[in-house]
Amino acid sequence: MAFIKEIQARCSSCGENHTISTYGSINVSEDPLLKEKVKDGSLFVWECPHCGQLNLAKYTTLYHDPDGKLMVWLLPLGESLDPGTENGMANIAEELDDYTLRRVDDIGSLIEKVNIFDAGLDDIIIEMCKYVTKMELVEKTPQKRAEIMAAPFKFYRMGGADNEITLSFPMDGNMHGVNIGFNVYEDCTGILRRNPTIKPESGFARIDSAWLGKFFR
Ligand SMILES: [Zn+2]
Repeated sequence: MAFIKEIQARCSSCGENHTISTYGSINVSEDPLLKEKVKDGSLFVWECPHCGQLNLAKYTTLYHDPDGKLMVWLLPLGESLDPGTENGMANIAEELDDYTLRRVDDIGSLIEKVNIFDAGLDDIIIEMCKYVTKMELVEKTPQKRAEIMAAPFKFYRMGGADNEITLSFPMDGNMHGVNIGFNVYEDCTGILRRNPTIKPESGFARIDSAWLGKFFR
């Protein structure tokens, strides 16, 4: 069941306040349409009835895919976390010990997690793929080292007969894509198997480039 909460939101263009509906939780098995709205981002966009401006609604939500045994907790940066919620989430984590549990700071990262798991891939291995790909790009264009390492790479899609993986990243004001063969994913699977210390913390784990970077210092 989707738990809907009404909140007050201020239009970024005209400054008028409006009541908008937000989702406290999203169960995509009960309502598959919600998954599509998460994936295209429309679940987080509201149109101002006064001026027509499209605004982004940043709010906390819990994405739940019971079939895929995936739960992603979106807690936007700057949102406060009360101890009651934290305890509640810890209890959920304890009950769902066969689930993949993730915590993200922004809508783009939630969308990426859903896309990764929908493609049947593992987000830790994808982070490793991003790291390896960045290293290769740096080797080709060493003068862009700082920009490449700082760029937020995202899993975009997997496609084609060979399961080619596309990563996207912004640089110099444009979005770029880089395709990597599935063999890179397999190589990264091997790297992680040989490095068992690289594993997520218990509970709702944050898996991103900053997390992986801690293991490569
Ligand atoms: Zn407005």
